[in-house]
Amino acid sequence: MNAYADAIDAGHCATLWVCDDCFYSHHGFEAGETNNDREPLNRISPDTDLSSGLRSEEHSEGCTPKIRETDGCECETTPFSWSACDGCGSNLGGTRHAMFAVFGVRPVTTDAPTEPTDNG
Ligand SMILES: [Zn+2]
Ligand SMILES: [Zn+2]
Repeated sequence: MNAYADAIDAGHCATLWVCDDCFYSHHGFEAGETNNDREPLNRISPDTDLSSGLRSEEHSEGCTPKIRETDGCECETTPFSWSACDGCGSNLGGTRHAMFAVFGVRPVTTDAPTEPTDNG
């Protein structure tokens, strides 16, 4: 039983194209100098599993696993696009990075951050 594979089988997945801010935010970097005032990945629900890159079948014809391993390939990055970012909705022109999203597979904690209490 693999919730991740089941979700993909059921079609609960998509390739998203996200801006630099969202991409770097996913990888744990602070958003750098940017004109973008949107919260990175704010359109992505917390139960969505994101991984960078495309699934193998989505690479262009002629892009082999060997190319991807040695030189990297260009399928997963659009150098410049005006299309809105799928992660935050920004429509600033810029780089878009492919990310593979699987919906509804991450446990979501609804607990608020714990705060000190004066009980006691
Ligand atoms: Zn490729
Ligand atoms: Zn974005």
